[in-house]
Amino acid sequence: MELGLLLLMLLTLTGNISAALEQYRAVDWLSRYGYLPPPDPRTSKLQTKEGIEKAIRVMQRFGGVQETGVLDNETLKLMSTPRCSLPDIVGNEDMLRRKRRRRKRYALSGLKWHKTDLTWSVHSYPTPSLSPGLSSSLVDQILTRAFKAWSDEAPLSFRHLPSDIRGAATGGDIRVTFSRLLHDDGYPFDGQGGTLAHAFFPGRDEVAGDTHFDDDEIWSYGGQSGSTDLFTVAVHEFGHALGLSHSSSDPSIMRPYYQGPVGDISKFQLAADDRNAIQQLYGVKNGRPPGGDDPDLPRLPSPPPPRPTQPSDPSHTERCQGGFDAVANIRGEVFFFKGAQFWRTKRDGSLSSLNPAQIKNFWIGLPSGTNKIDAVYERKSDSSIIFFIGSQYWVFKDREAMSGYPRPLSEWGMRTKSGGLVDRVEAAFIWAHNGKTYLFSGGEFWRFDESRNGEHVTRQLEPGYPRDNSLWGGVPTNMDDIISWGEGDAYFFKDNLYWVLKNGGLNQDVVTPKSIAVDWLRCPAPPATSTPKDCICDLKGSSSFLRSSWLLLIFVILISK
Ligand code: ZN
Ligand code: ZN
Repeated sequence: MELGLLLLMLLTLTGNISAALEQYRAVDWLSRYGYLPPPDPRTSKLQTKEGIEKAIRVMQRFGGVQETGVLDNETLKLMSTPRCSLPDIVGNEDMLRRKRRRRKRYALSGLKWHKTDLTWSVHSYPTPSLSPGLSSSLVDQILTRAFKAWSDEAPLSFRHLPSDIRGAATGGDIRVTFSRLLHDDGYPFDGQGGTLAHAFFPGRDEVAGDTHFDDDEIWSYGGQSGSTDLFTVAVHEFGHALGLSHSSSDPSIMRPYYQGPVGDISKFQLAADDRNAIQQLYGVKNGRPPGGDDPDLPRLPSPPPPRPTQPSDPSHTERCQGGFDAVANIRGEVFFFKGAQFWRTKRDGSLSSLNPAQIKNFWIGLPSGTNKIDAVYERKSDSSIIFFIGSQYWVFKDREAMSGYPRPLSEWGMRTKSGGLVDRVEAAFIWAHNGKTYLFSGGEFWRFDESRNGEHVTRQLEPGYPRDNSLWGGVPTNMDDIISWGEGDAYFFKDNLYWVLKNGGLNQDVVTPKSIAVDWLRCPAPPATSTPKDCICDLKGSSSFLRSSWLLLIFVILISK
């Protein structure tokens, strides 16, 4: 990791080498578990001292040790404790929070501003040719109204820093940009569709509060057909910039999917769930009752007439019927690949469209005309992303394939029980419980150890494979793909259903499938769910395999200490 090395060199020059090593390992740990943004080798963004301190504090709070912001003994001990390989910050923190406060649907990021007078500025505007209806002054007005939605309910004020002092100042607390694809923060956009925008939670580091809109979208005032309503998305993103996470409540502007325009924005008011969330962070506003138009605000042009029907959802059929070619957990987001398109879901802090993004616009280096991906996974040892198509595979660093790829699948050395070379991978994932890579094909699976050796990752096919897919009890034997998700659980996807093997399959007698469309992709529940007959099975046949894996894992943890 380059930034870690740089840090190491810097600290070494100034003195204590063991402190430098400690810091290097800590930064690596914090990135791996979601407390710091993942390293992006092509952007030279360095972690700031403040950013690292903040991440340590969040980690300490999460781990239940004293919140000091420095690497004290207790913190280092916690960092060296064996643990699940999934990040804490993406998803899990929300889950824990929701468990504690069951009655409330909203979630808070755990971060807030320690002041109430905030400033904002716009550093770039939507590309006029794509979003012709939005002049920069109209954008300013829409954003002003979006901030007002929050300041109507909580004692907050938002001051717009005009463009002439933008360069002189740091740009204020909340800096708004419209950007495309890679834009120097490690969270690239994906062309039209897919992710619409994201924002950084409050804090002391430089990017805190910053809000980015995908400039490949068609932005509009009013959300006319085929466009995305800027106001709706801005209110949502500013919610993140103020410290709110996603909410499962309906109605709530903090739902993770774009739900279409809100109607007359001069009359917009937050839903009760969002109001409670912002007031939980900043208190209740005294004085003028919220809502209604403010005489100080400039007049908005009249919005286009509301559409009589629900926002169109052209990708509904493709998305909701399931049958995905590949599913992958990449940096805490789940990607569903189908044909030449993909949907992405569930990363805290980004708002997704129900419209798919195009694989060719986002994943650079796959063959042109790619319309089926067999399997995808994120390699644990170096966060590369591996794609399998037919008898070839690609290694991606972020969005781009590394040079020298594709390479033949035969390099993996997988042979079937009958001795034939495997020419296609159906599913691939890292099992959180042992960190090993599993590849599936033709009813059999292989296990690999991929460990990092300096700059290189060495791949070792483990002896004793292939084994039969039926060892994963209670799930179909020819799944579309598999991911690790939640608290280390394995999720198996097949057609429009998914099965969860909790805790690696321990203490679980029956695995009941659920709907991918309903739970992951915001589709309506079907009128009646029929259960395929191979779904509810007991684990008798496989429990000894799973139990012995578990015992082996405990043993490995013990001897590796
Ligand atoms: Zn961004
Ligand atoms: Zn969001």
